[in-house]
Amino acid sequence: MPHGVAEIPVRPALARFSAYTPGPEDPRMAKWEQRRSFWTWGYASDEPSEEQRKGVAKAISQRTGVEVEPPPIPDLAEVEIRPARLEVPARLADWVSSEKEERLLHTYGGHFMELLSALRGQFDNPPDAVAHPRNEDELEATLAWADGEGYKVVPYGGGTSVVWGVRPPDDAEQVITIDLDHLSRVVEIDHTSRAARIQAGMLGPDLEDALRPEGLTLRHFPQSFPWSTVGGWVATRAGGHYATNHTHIDDMVESVRMITPSGWWESRRLPGSGAGPSPDRMVIGSEGTLGIISECWLRLQKRPTYRATGGIVFPSWHAGAEAVRSIVQSKLWPSNLRLLDPGEAKQSAGLDGEQALLIVGFESADVPQDANIKAAVALAREAGGSIEDDQIKISDGTGEATGRDGAVGAWRQSFTGVNAGLINGLGMIVDTFETAITWDRFRDFDAEIRERVGATLERVLGPGWTLSCRFTHVYTDGPAPYYTFQGPGKLGGEFEQWQEIKEAANAAVVEAGGTVTHHHAVGRMHRSGYDRQRPDLFADAYKAAKAKIDPRGTLNPGVLFDVD
Ligand SMILES: Cc1cc2nc3c(=O)[nH]c(=O)nc-3n(C[C@H](O)[C@H](O)[C@H](O)COP(=O)(O)OP(=O)(O)OC[C@H]3O[C@@H](n4cnc5c(N)ncnc54)[C@H](O)[C@@H]3O)c2cc1C
Repeated sequence: MPHGVAEIPVRPALARFSAYTPGPEDPRMAKWEQRRSFWTWGYASDEPSEEQRKGVAKAISQRTGVEVEPPPIPDLAEVEIRPARLEVPARLADWVSSEKEERLLHTYGGHFMELLSALRGQFDNPPDAVAHPRNEDELEATLAWADGEGYKVVPYGGGTSVVWGVRPPDDAEQVITIDLDHLSRVVEIDHTSRAARIQAGMLGPDLEDALRPEGLTLRHFPQSFPWSTVGGWVATRAGGHYATNHTHIDDMVESVRMITPSGWWESRRLPGSGAGPSPDRMVIGSEGTLGIISECWLRLQKRPTYRATGGIVFPSWHAGAEAVRSIVQSKLWPSNLRLLDPGEAKQSAGLDGEQALLIVGFESADVPQDANIKAAVALAREAGGSIEDDQIKISDGTGEATGRDGAVGAWRQSFTGVNAGLINGLGMIVDTFETAITWDRFRDFDAEIRERVGATLERVLGPGWTLSCRFTHVYTDGPAPYYTFQGPGKLGGEFEQWQEIKEAANAAVVEAGGTVTHHHAVGRMHRSGYDRQRPDLFADAYKAAKAKIDPRGTLNPGVLFDVD
């Protein structure tokens, strides 16, 4: 064992699928010992009740004038799917299965349209088999079998991809989904360097549960944190909900271990290195196209005990944006610097629909944050923002959370309480697209996006649509605007309507100079924008590297690139 490394207790593999429910054990596991919901985000216990669904249906009917009812939830036992197009060899049968429920539950990721298909009982393209390797040997044997037989492989973490990253490719003849759920423990912690070796299938809450007794945290909280995994975060270059500084998984990766069809790939643990292009940078964001990440060393932090939060109101979106620029360029590095446009501030924080809301938060394990938040508030006031002094909440040294009440608390509640099941199947079309743009182009960019996507929404959905925006992440050179659109669609025609809007949004962000995705990844959904955004020579170079690592094009075809 390397110097300074403590072995921490092995946690049993977590079962998220009924087919793999383990024994009783730890009460904290109760949540995970149940089936993942196939028609909303999270677990069966996260599904809304019939009464809640009916309540939302009634509200939508009143708003749109079209009577809607929550559709019945299909009984998985009665759903029919295509037979598996392969035989699982006996030597792999302990962890690879062609059972119907396994295949159904791995047909889709977490995108709204996928959840809608699942709710309608449509599982047209399930994988042919699902593997749950319990160790690296089984992982390696599964990949070798699939690659040797010419089958395609989809790596699967928490299945929260919203860009069609885990759905089987349409044109593949046989597909094996490899779910990492049994590789789900912290293997080592290096307290001296503050880093841990973590298996790829570990879910966010389990990771934080394991680190908490050590006084440590990864401090990486994507909105999908409860259901997404370490391997998924690294494979997609996930962004946490902290707005500035270290919040992307990129900054936390110290080294990666990954199995590929051509063998193991493992980088050296280093705090930094100037030795040529970084091997980790090639893996981070590879979205399962180069290999299957089995574990990685990630940089950790002490848990914060100093916190400060405030909600600052601005007369306009652009006044708020100027304040954000001024704060981030002053290099105060707030943990939260989330600007909500008037539409979003009204909907999620109860403002009047004219004003924008800026949520500013600071935290630290060691340093009081009183001075930092006061400096940020001063800059915000200079830009036209208003907040009463007694609305600045500071809990220096106690560890107590701030920002749980008022407009900030209301926003927080709506951010963490997302439940796609409430509106699933009620004809509403809801989606988001996130991008990033430099400050010098932000105003024109935002105007162009609103105009172009707004015109498409008007044409496709007619009256009743909304398009709103917030900044999820902010950099000294520009913000990451996150747009949400919604409106009443045509029952039964939602997919076509959504697709038209999504294609228009992909085209608008790329043509106006932004990125087709800031943190949701490319998957199969963002290809039309990604193909235009990245240099062609880069695509050729990446494909050449893939041809060496994955010569048969086994891994996740159609994600990022088409394999020739
Ligand atoms: C409600 C909701 C909120 C979200 N919020 C955020 C957010 O705040 N920030 C953000 O960045 N994303 C967000 N996402 C998107 C998604 O959660 C992230 O992309 C996340 O990193 C995916 O993790 P996962 O474990 O669920 O991976 P999966 O969905 O299982 O897989 C995602 C991709 O990574 C590949 N992959 C997964 N595991 C491995 C592995 N071990 N080795 C190689 N490839 C692998 C898959 O093949 C797939 O292409 C959100 C999604 C939802 C549904």
